[in-house]
Amino acid sequence: MPPQGSNELELITWNNGPIDPKANVCHNHSHAETQFIEWFRAQPVDWKKSVTEINMALNVSPCTFCCADLSNFAKGLPAGIKLKISWIEVYETAGKCQELSTTIESLTKLSNWEHNSPSPGPKSKSDSLMIKNK
Ligand SMILES: [Zn+2]
Repeated sequence: MPPQGSNELELITWNNGPIDPKANVCHNHSHAETQFIEWFRAQPVDWKKSVTEINMALNVSPCTFCCADLSNFAKGLPAGIKLKISWIEVYETAGKCQELSTTIESLTKLSNWEHNSPSPGPKSKSDSLMIKNK
């Protein structure tokens, strides 16, 4: 928690629902990244202009859909905002919606985010992970 008087804001978001086994299409509406993006976009324009850095610390890597959404989100931000992202484990899911599992290709969409270590890549191709520590 930032100290009193700090110009930092700590926001915690989380997945607000499981994968719906009855859904015909997989989506990321319930993911923590989506919660953050929707919250940020709802803030006043002047407040958003005052933001200088977004540092996203995730427990698991963004899924393929969230990688695309975070890339688009970053493109819509005012110029000059520093973007940082990190995670502890790679998001991998089996069965229904396994296409949401993080891939090397999806992580390349985060090229506009500074990638903090340690943030492991998918195990299958970890040697060729495109995202590099800056
Ligand atoms: Zn996601």
